[in-house]
Amino acid sequence: MRTPSLVLVSLIFSLAALVLPSGAATAQTGYPIANAAPLTRSPLYTAGRLPGASCAERPVKAGSVVSVKSYLTPLVKCLDAAWTAQFARARLPFAKPRVTFITKPQRMCGSNWGKDVQAIYCNTDRRIVLMLDRDVVGDPGDLYLLDVLAHEYGHHVQNVAGMWRALDRLPSRNKAEFYEQTRRHELQAECLAGAFIGSVWPSLDRDAGDWKELLDADRRSGDESTGVRDHGKGRNIANWLNRGFKAASPSACNTWIAGSSMVA
Ligand SMILES: [Zn+2]
Repeated sequence: MRTPSLVLVSLIFSLAALVLPSGAATAQTGYPIANAAPLTRSPLYTAGRLPGASCAERPVKAGSVVSVKSYLTPLVKCLDAAWTAQFARARLPFAKPRVTFITKPQRMCGSNWGKDVQAIYCNTDRRIVLMLDRDVVGDPGDLYLLDVLAHEYGHHVQNVAGMWRALDRLPSRNKAEFYEQTRRHELQAECLAGAFIGSVWPSLDRDAGDWKELLDADRRSGDESTGVRDHGKGRNIANWLNRGFKAASPSACNTWIAGSSMVA
């Protein structure tokens, strides 16, 4: 969880205004991130494709929490194996997250469970919590659950790689900049989910229609539906998921150097 840190750098603002052509001073709509390693420059970006481990999905029975858990547990193991190997290649230390499944809202990470929240990642105790509510248990057969799990795992990757901490320390001049940074962080987690799914895709018994269905679900899930500008527009969420998927590598997931429209 981030809290806004509104740092006013009026001196830099006025200097920037001096060198801009007249009329352009108010044209700035984005907030570039310059030289904020490990956000902009992480060894993860240059460590190549994820290892492409074999990761078969077990059959899953709709309506059964036990079945959904035994469907997800081997997928957690696949994520552990893939990211352990990737961090080793990047010469970064890694530790697996804890993963907890719950079926009813409960207090987690020191907060009450939010309405319509499917999953969270607690960065302080490195734990993924997935809500197996009636909706997902009733219809667990598409790629949605795997995407949710891989996205939260993406946050764990950001945390262990030091990106989470770097984001917490990143100053923002106003709310718009704060939200843009939050979107870069969220869209990166979705891209990392895509990279993992792309890397194990040959071993999943899925077809192009399944993938298109997930992209469509992402398009429907954007900030347009929540009214809060913290995750990105649906088309951008789908775009970053697909970029990661096609590259099967975090190399596609440097949202920190992307133009503002890509992270809108
Ligand atoms: Zn997220």
